[in-house]
Amino acid sequence: MTDLISPDLAVPEPSDLAGQPYAYRRAELVEPDWSRIPGWKDVTVEEWRSVQWQRAHCVKNVKQLRDVMGDLVDERFYDDLTRDQAERATMSMLLPPQMLNTIVPQGASDYTEAFYADPVRRYMLPVFSDRRSDWPSHPHATRDSLHEHEMWATEGLTHRYPTKVLAEVLPTCPQYCGHCTRMDLVGNSTPVIDKLKFVAKPQTRLDDMLDYLRRTPGVRDVVVSGGDVANMPWPRLEAFLGSLLEIENIRDIRLATKALMGMPQHWLSDDVRAGVERVSRTARERGVMMAIHTHVNAAQSVTPLVAEATKAMFDAGIRDVRNQGVLMRGVNDSVPQLLDLCFALLDGATITPYYFYMCDLIPFSEHWRVSVRDAQHLQHGILGYLPGFATPRIVCDVPYVGKRWVHQLSEYDEVRGISYWKKNYRTGIEQQDPEALNRTYEYYDPIDTLPAAGREWWKQHAGTSLAEAERRAAASRQAAESQKLLQIN
Ligand code: SF4
Repeated sequence: MTDLISPDLAVPEPSDLAGQPYAYRRAELVEPDWSRIPGWKDVTVEEWRSVQWQRAHCVKNVKQLRDVMGDLVDERFYDDLTRDQAERATMSMLLPPQMLNTIVPQGASDYTEAFYADPVRRYMLPVFSDRRSDWPSHPHATRDSLHEHEMWATEGLTHRYPTKVLAEVLPTCPQYCGHCTRMDLVGNSTPVIDKLKFVAKPQTRLDDMLDYLRRTPGVRDVVVSGGDVANMPWPRLEAFLGSLLEIENIRDIRLATKALMGMPQHWLSDDVRAGVERVSRTARERGVMMAIHTHVNAAQSVTPLVAEATKAMFDAGIRDVRNQGVLMRGVNDSVPQLLDLCFALLDGATITPYYFYMCDLIPFSEHWRVSVRDAQHLQHGILGYLPGFATPRIVCDVPYVGKRWVHQLSEYDEVRGISYWKKNYRTGIEQQDPEALNRTYEYYDPIDTLPAAGREWWKQHAGTSLAEAERRAAASRQAAESQKLLQIN
């Protein structure tokens, strides 16, 4: 049916690794057979490899999922999904065939149970019964949990760290992840979340970002993100990158695209490859490092097409491709899952495992979040197996601080699940704040993971915390709105 499908060629565990807590084995990548899915039984290899076909056949709602999956999956799953969409989902549904095909990759005798248990399904198609009913959201969860809008130097340009910025060049992606940190802005509104909209015209926003970078020589590194840059028409992205490359102070450019995994067909298309080659050549001539950062959370997502797209990017002159996954319960919260993923990336696709972020404190994310203590154990468990340069750091993105390695906390109340963190730089909104480096910043573990005394404490104090979180969210929103008004005026 298709020459993309390989048999499971997993090599047996080498005897010298027997007895190790994790037994490395090299596994060949597999493109799952899409003809097992009723809606795709007649799809050809040419169609599957076509980015136009992939984009046209993305699953955007429960009806479309039912049309594709048919009765492989029981009606109770569709009901569960429908309820989640109505009452909990912070992201609208958008799943390219490439990603949907990696769920239950080998088929199963009880498909519905396997579908429920699948790690990719658990974060790309969350259902109501996945979420916690006791604490669906942490009392301190907020829509813009990293306070990026407050740190916008221009609309969509977050200046949090001293020498680097994040440019949110567009608010859409080819796929929407249930746990998206930028759920406040990215994607379509859901019944639960009315999304924030950019005010300025797209080209004006890009021009404003470039102007800021020209007059801010201390910034040397730009993460070009969104959303996902794969959703920006290539000529517009190329023009933006060309302008960035003309700014003398910019030495590192990183393109953020989960689509390298979710829709590798985009990065394999001729026009995009040719465009990446042109931009990479200019970057090389100017001594600028151009890299791709992708977002893969489970080993089964790394397929031969992902490896092919990655190779195409290296052939086009991209200097490095790195993975920034998100650590989530039920998805990748065990040492074997993390190491299987890292080795699939490294051995199979030459993608460097770089970070695992702890899932952020956004609404309805409690069932995904992992405590700092468990994250520390996982970091300990994965050390020593991978090359040092490809051993990912598990990081906590602490509100108002930024990424901190999970072992870097200064204090930890494990009963209440409150960790305390410090920082060594001022964010863009603290230039005049003499106390910024002395202050301690808090991060909160999921309440259901706490001992009984801690859970009881939150029951008693959640009201106060919730009121405080709401007050801070309102202040944060107001600050972002005022900044936008300032820009408009
Ligand atoms: S690809 Fe990134 S920006 Fe887009 S929905 Fe997923 S996590 Fe959010």
